[in-house]
Amino acid sequence: MTYWQADMETMSRADLEKLQLKRLKETIQTAGNSTFYNKVFKEQKITPDSIHSLEDLKRIPFTTKEDLRNNYPFGMAAVPIQKCVRLHSSSGTTGNPTVVLHSAKDIDEWANQVARCMYMVGLRNTDIFQNTSGYGMFTGGLGFQYGAEKLGALTVPAAAGNSKRQLKFIADFGTTCLHIIPSYATRLAEVMQESGIDPRRDTKLHTVCIGAEPHSEEQRKRIEELLGVKAYNCFGMSEMNGPGVAFECKEQNGLHIWEDYVIVEIIDPITLEPVPEGEVGELVLTAINREAMPLLRYRTRDLTRIIQGKCACGRTHKRIDRFKGRSDDMLILKGVNLFPIQIETILMKFNELGNNYLITIENDEMQVEVELSDLFTDDYSQLQRLTKEVTRQLKDELLLTPKLKLVGRGSLPVQEGKAVRVKDLRKF
Ligand code: ADP
Ligand code: ZN
Repeated sequence: MTYWQADMETMSRADLEKLQLKRLKETIQTAGNSTFYNKVFKEQKITPDSIHSLEDLKRIPFTTKEDLRNNYPFGMAAVPIQKCVRLHSSSGTTGNPTVVLHSAKDIDEWANQVARCMYMVGLRNTDIFQNTSGYGMFTGGLGFQYGAEKLGALTVPAAAGNSKRQLKFIADFGTTCLHIIPSYATRLAEVMQESGIDPRRDTKLHTVCIGAEPHSEEQRKRIEELLGVKAYNCFGMSEMNGPGVAFECKEQNGLHIWEDYVIVEIIDPITLEPVPEGEVGELVLTAINREAMPLLRYRTRDLTRIIQGKCACGRTHKRIDRFKGRSDDMLILKGVNLFPIQIETILMKFNELGNNYLITIENDEMQVEVELSDLFTDDYSQLQRLTKEVTRQLKDELLLTPKLKLVGRGSLPVQEGKAVRVKDLRKF
């Protein structure tokens, strides 16, 4: 079995849209069995037969995270619970948690999706794949595990943290590929350096799959440089299975979003109307290849755009751009709207700056703390020059002047799991 699925991946747009329409109708049939969609479809008079084209998708109202919360735990289930074999749940720090259910077929399709992504970036059954994601509710663990096993790679479920052990596994097992979140990738590279390990000389690593949190192109380049690998961006979210929804191909210019699995829309989050093709808006996804809990027109809150034109790799599935952030990540400060990723993009341009940073907002003032890298020589005038130059570039980008604090390596907190880059004290 090869996971270069040419018939699907290079299907003509017309055939792809025909397949989407067929799967959409089937999904409406299935979803109608859930308490939630049963009510929605009745109100809107939606039946599979009333959907004649993909345009008709717009007749279906959006589904939101709030809907998932309100229907906790099983109100979105479209099949009897006995038919489900897995449940993933997000933490309920703000209200009810959310639940995502999977049937055996869903798990198999999801694994296929991940295997397809891995094959696309050159991974094969001869690779040794180490997954540094937390296992458990975080879908980056089991999602990649099943996908990598399906590909046939020797899969090491190392799980998160314990960098010394990660490095020992990489060395002893001859790991060639990691799945790793970007903030941990740079951290692991630092530990390598501290342990005198040169990844090019001492390891067989050639590829890393990075995702689960926003990161800039500059951070990707750093990861590639530090670990001596190619780094590919992977997008996933629990509500749409998890990792593998969209993935970069070798061109590294946008993530192919698998349109035999999802229908993609980009909307203006205020007017809820589609944005002109190519403009940034909120990603809205309709799952068309799931049975236990298909979500229709799900508002992801993630901001991206469609990259226009054909991809040189030959795949016909649309490409989405690296995320600008989530609509709820946007900071409004002194009337200026900005995203943390804009700050990261500037910081990562400076070799003298390290990989860890923290943005604190208090009383409408922004403080950016960033660690220095080992390239910084302990020189006071250099520190002053650097502070001035970074501040100037931040000001040009953000149109406001943050207070910049350069701090020693290792002095900012590190998280196990997704990095928390912003502390907004106005919210407490
Ligand atoms: P998972 O358990 O797979 O991390 P979650 O549902 O917890 O899924 O988180 C999904 C969210 O993580 C997305 O909506 C998005 O905001 C963020 N995310 C996932 N992948 C990426 C990526 N490659 N780039 C930026 N943000 C990402
Ligand atoms: Zn491509």
